[in-house]
Amino acid sequence: MSENDLHRVGTDAARLAGEDGGFPAQEQEPPGLTAAMEPRPDHGEESYRGNGRLAGLRALITGGDSGIGRAVAIAYAREGADVALSYLPDEQADAEDTAAWVERAGRRAVLVPGDIRDEETARTVVRDAVAGLGGLDVLVNNAGAQWARRENGIADVTTEQMDAIVKVNLYALFWITQEALPHLGRGSSIINCASIQAYDPSVSLIDYASTKAAITNITVNLAQELGERGIRVNAVAPGPIWTPLQPATKGADSMPAFGGDTPLGRAGQPSEVAGAFVFLASPEEASYVSAAVLGVTGGKPVF
Ligand code: NAD
Ligand code: MG
Repeated sequence: MSENDLHRVGTDAARLAGEDGGFPAQEQEPPGLTAAMEPRPDHGEESYRGNGRLAGLRALITGGDSGIGRAVAIAYAREGADVALSYLPDEQADAEDTAAWVERAGRRAVLVPGDIRDEETARTVVRDAVAGLGGLDVLVNNAGAQWARRENGIADVTTEQMDAIVKVNLYALFWITQEALPHLGRGSSIINCASIQAYDPSVSLIDYASTKAAITNITVNLAQELGERGIRVNAVAPGPIWTPLQPATKGADSMPAFGGDTPLGRAGQPSEVAGAFVFLASPEEASYVSAAVLGVTGGKPVF
């Protein structure tokens, strides 16, 4: 990449991240859709170049319709993997857009909609993904839920919100991992999506942050259990990334400053997170990497 190209990538990301005054105030209801976002996030559609690093692998990406999951799906497909995408039925339009990018890369996209807060649905999602892909090599536990429209900290946390958040972020991760494990073999890997919130929690996200801390703990524990089977288990801990999750769960007024408190001074784009997921899935490049938590945080430490 030339110096000019490097400059362009940096300034594109900065422009999309609203460095000139932040993102416009905006709000959606969960789960949030890509088409309603201003500006539209960058998932690497025009920039990601594959290098055969995941050739012939089959990956299930939960929450693969949008945001980080979409960027991972595009990158995985361009690296030579077939992908199954799990998402909520309300996100069909986003899932079809992502699937079209996967197919444009010459790979197979398998769509497995369903609300994974329900155990039977979560398990069926995995079974349908495995059937559609003809097996499974990489599980990306990326689906996540949060709620931040709170003024009084823990006093505002309702049981209903806790059920919704913990079911997606933790129960479903257990169910989906259990159902996927019999299909994973030597060289396979599991990649969980943690968060900077596991290390530097926000008051308004106390329930969500606790699930992300649990996810880093589960990651290192499962890495111990599965090492002898040659299955690696790792996590990516993103910082503030411009995805539908943000306007769908935070107040409109918090969008202009979103990401501004990082050392790099801006939010990241989904395209800037995908490379970490590619590295951790790569059987050659990450062959000795397990129980790692890779931060993609704009400069905040993940320890
Ligand atoms: P996103 O909204 O694009 O993706 C989250 C996805 O989770 C949704 O698309 C949806 O398909 C899935 N999901 C939520 N509830 C579900 C349910 N009940 N059943 C099935 N699927 C469900 O947002 P994103 O930011 O790309 O989120 C991806 C992951 O990244 C999440 O785990 C999130 O916690 C994590 N993360 C995001 C940020 C950020 O700033 N955006 C930071 C750190 C971690
Ligand atoms: Mg979505």
